[in-house]
Amino acid sequence: MPVMPRPSILSVEPYVGGESKVPGVNRIVKLSSNEGPFGPPPAAVAAITEAAKEANRYPDGGATAIREAIGKHHGLDPNRIVVGNGSDELLALLILAYGGEGTEIVMSAHGFLMYELTGRWAGCSVLKVPEKDLQADIDGIIAACGPRTRLVILANPNNPTGALLPQAEVDRLRAGLREDILLVLDSAYAEYVTDPDYDAGAKLVDAGTNTVMTRTFSKVWGLGGMRLGWLYGPPAVVDVLNRVRSPFNVSSTAQAAGIAALSEPGWVEKNVAHNREWVGKMTEGLTKLGLKVHPSHANFLLVDFGSPEASKAADAHLRSRGLIVRGVTVYGLPSCLRITIGTAEECGMVLDALADLRNG
Ligand code: PMP
Repeated sequence: MPVMPRPSILSVEPYVGGESKVPGVNRIVKLSSNEGPFGPPPAAVAAITEAAKEANRYPDGGATAIREAIGKHHGLDPNRIVVGNGSDELLALLILAYGGEGTEIVMSAHGFLMYELTGRWAGCSVLKVPEKDLQADIDGIIAACGPRTRLVILANPNNPTGALLPQAEVDRLRAGLREDILLVLDSAYAEYVTDPDYDAGAKLVDAGTNTVMTRTFSKVWGLGGMRLGWLYGPPAVVDVLNRVRSPFNVSSTAQAAGIAALSEPGWVEKNVAHNREWVGKMTEGLTKLGLKVHPSHANFLLVDFGSPEASKAADAHLRSRGLIVRGVTVYGLPSCLRITIGTAEECGMVLDALADLRNG
């Protein structure tokens, strides 16, 4: 008998992402992982280099300085912040700690893939609630929760749709859920939102004992490779995460990079302004080519090519020019591609390539 993992683990396909090569193409433009287009903040690069000089030492397991820096930046209590090896790690720990065998996770049909993958290997059943026009259906989610539901996980803005759920709907979701259900608000793309009513989650976290917010340094902060995410939650949830996380889950270089990034002047403003400009220009350009572009509140566009064949052909054409975008068939959206907003030049390359394809 070979050694075997728990059966639920073999039901999960490995996550595919981060690919950065196309055979035979020299210049690659990677627009498939919603990373920031301007490299890492220069202050973070300097801090990483400095921290590397003491790489023989373990990092601060309590991550005090980075939690304090995050707390100061966002006006939050650092004692209620936990950092993780990317927000992926924190989401997985929440699912393992509050879910597991015999429990259920409820998510929106086109919610972020990792909730489903982690939920399944953790042994939870994962219920995906149908959407209306690619928008989470709050009444559907509330109605779908059963006695075994332990977690409801919602990304707002959502990946891969780019949709933003109005704040009143998010509030209504929390109010409509049983008290013993943990609502996880995944706000990975919070910085890009312009809606003045939007709350990335802190208000709802503070209003009760059963809501948490997760955030990341991988998107607007330009530090995807450092793997740094964080969570703000009620003391009891923070306590649980500190029990289950590994002792040194965030490297010293990642902690130093995060602190430095937060002090980089104008970084978020510059990135957000660029993003807003190019979400607009790309949406307009692609729409003119006859493509359907879903309204985006994040740093990527979900583009509908009309059929799975057309989206595959567009993907192959973009790849032949070194432009790597993201197929979203795993999300049940085979006629779409998800395209990250790159630099102005990179966005221009995508528009030119798709115009050439459309015009034969
Ligand atoms: N949540 C959402 C909605 C995401 O799109 C991503 C990144 N693709 C993550 C969480 C994970 O981010 P990270 O682990 O890099 O913090």
